[in-house]
Parts: sequence; C-alpha cells; structure tokens
Amino acid sequence: MLNLNEIHKPTTVQDALKFLQQPDTVALAGGTNLIAEQRRDVRAVVDLSGLGLAYIRESSGAIVLGAMTTLSALNDSPILRALANGVIAQAAHRSAASILRNQATLAGTIIAEPDGILAVALLALDAQVTLVGSETRQIAIENFWREGAAKSLVTEIAVPIKNPRAALHTVARTPSDQPIVGVIASAQIENQVARDVRIALGGVSETALRASAAEKILEGQTLNDAVIENAVGAMHASPLHPRGDYRGSAEYRREMAIVLTRRAVRELIT
Ligand SMILES: Cc1cc2nc3c(=O)[nH]c(=O)nc-3n(C[C@H](O)[C@H](O)[C@H](O)COP(=O)(O)OP(=O)(O)OC[C@H]3O[C@@H](n4cnc5c(N)ncnc54)[C@H](O)[C@@H]3O)c2cc1C
Repeated sequence: MLNLNEIHKPTTVQDALKFLQQPDTVALAGGTNLIAEQRRDVRAVVDLSGLGLAYIRESSGAIVLGAMTTLSALNDSPILRALANGVIAQAAHRSAASILRNQATLAGTIIAEPDGILAVALLALDAQVTLVGSETRQIAIENFWREGAAKSLVTEIAVPIKNPRAALHTVARTPSDQPIVGVIASAQIENQVARDVRIALGGVSETALRASAAEKILEGQTLNDAVIENAVGAMHASPLHPRGDYRGSAEYRREMAIVLTRRAVRELIT
C-alpha cells in the first residue's frame, strides 16, 4: 500500500460499508496479505478491528465464526477441535506460521488464499458466508468465491453442526510451510456406509473445489478398498488442471490430489 494516506476505524458495520464505497478504499483485516502486496491503487483502508467481529459461538444449529477471528483463535478453540475431527482447527494451524496466525484472520485468509487449506476445510463442511453490502445475504462458500466481496463485508461464516467424520491430509515442503496440496474428506458414517460425502481439494485450482465425481461414487456405499479405488479412478478420468509453480508442478499437484483423497477417505473408516 505504497500510496496509503487514510485509515478509517469505524465501530459499526454500517459505517465501515460507507467508507468502503469511497474510491481506492479496501477492507483491512490482519493486514498480512494486503501490506505484503504493496498495492499502489489503495489510498485508504477501513480497519475492521473495531467492529466486534472476533468470536466463535454456537447458534441455531451452527458454529458461527466472526470474520475477524484470528487463525490462532480458530486453532485453539475447543468448540472447533470437537467439530468434525477438528479439521477447521487443524487447517487454521497449517495455514501459516505462528506469528502470522496471531495476526491473520478468517475472512482475510479465505479471500487472500481461496485455494488454501482453511478454504478447503470450510468447503468440506458446507460453510455459509454472511456478506453485507446493500443487503445482507448468506451464501455457500463456493458461490462467495465466484461473486467476490467487492465493496461488501464478510461479517461471519457459519458451519452447520452436522458433525460428520472428517480427515485432513496435506503435502508441504516442511511441516510449518503452507500446504502445496490439501484434501479434506467428510461424511456421515454408519456401519461403514458413507452419506453426505464431501471431498474438498486445495492447491489444484484458483479456489478450493470439490471432487464431485469421486463423491458420487462413494455416496451411499460401504467404504472398502474397491469402492475407494473406483472413486479415485474417477479422479483420473476427469483430470484437474492445476497451475504449477516453484512449490509443485501441475503433474505433482494432480497426482497428490489423488493420493491424498485416497488417504483421507480411508481414514474416515479407521
Ligand atoms: C511473510 C508472509 C508469509 C505468508 N505465508 C502464508 C502462508 O504460509 N499461507 C497462507 O495461506 N498465506 C500466507 N500469507 C498470506 C497472508 O498472510 C494470509 O493469506 C492471511 O491469512 C491473510 O489474512 P489477513 O487477515 O491478514 O488479511 P488482509 O491482508 O487484511 O486481507 C486480505 C484481503 O481480504 C480482504 N478482507 C479481509 N477481511 C475482509 C472482510 N471481513 N470482508 C471483506 N474483505 C475482507 C482485504 O481487503 C484484502 O483484500 C503470507 C503473508 C506474508 C506477508
């Protein structure tokens, strides 16, 4: 933010929205991505830290996460550790190193890293994003990435308490480095039969996405090696088209998505 000359610090969401409508003005959460980007087009920021949006609470069948909740708070939360085998807490931990986790927020992370492991966890658990603009809407997280948050504010994200079994698998250059590819599988498992299967993949596209072909094969099935191999076979048949970079080539990412899906689905029944 090389041309920054104004910082607004509103105490209500309505005031924050008014400031956001001004030209060259963006929302500032933890600031870790925004400041690192060194954008020249940003002249003013709206600091969201006075809006009271840092919380984790249970409400109407969902765990509701305030947009300004830090990755550290997500990682430390007993409520999140008890939900779906703790995959949101684990994902927050693996999203960034400890110094960044104390600063980076939930909303900032899913916007700056829409293919990151936290995004994967929220997609796997069917999260709904509350977006406040000219109106207040709740939208599925995959639609949120399609629409973006331009001149709107994410105020909270709700994760339904269906409490499925879930398993997270990643590959990274080092244990504290952000994952190159990450997969989370979730399902309701009864007598080894899987229902409401959701498999979310990160690091293979612009945003986290679901492995729909594999999900369809697993839905309603008794999970065993043959069924699981069928499902990952479907991923071979409809290949992903990731973009390679210095951390992992396209081929590596494609192959890891399959390997990690196999591991994550197997873990649902172990
Ligand atoms: C040294 C360094 C290392 C990093 N390493 C990693 C890493 O290992 N893994 C990783 O995932 N990321 C990494 N990042 C990127 C960044 O830190 C993370 O993506 C971080 O989680 C962003 O969160 P934040 O709260 O700081 O967002 P900010 O930088 O404050 O905001 C990010 C974007 O989201 C928008 N925004 C934020 N909150 C809202 C809201 N409530 N409503 C609407 N728009 C909003 C902002 O306007 C901005 O466009 C790194 C950054 C740095 C500087």
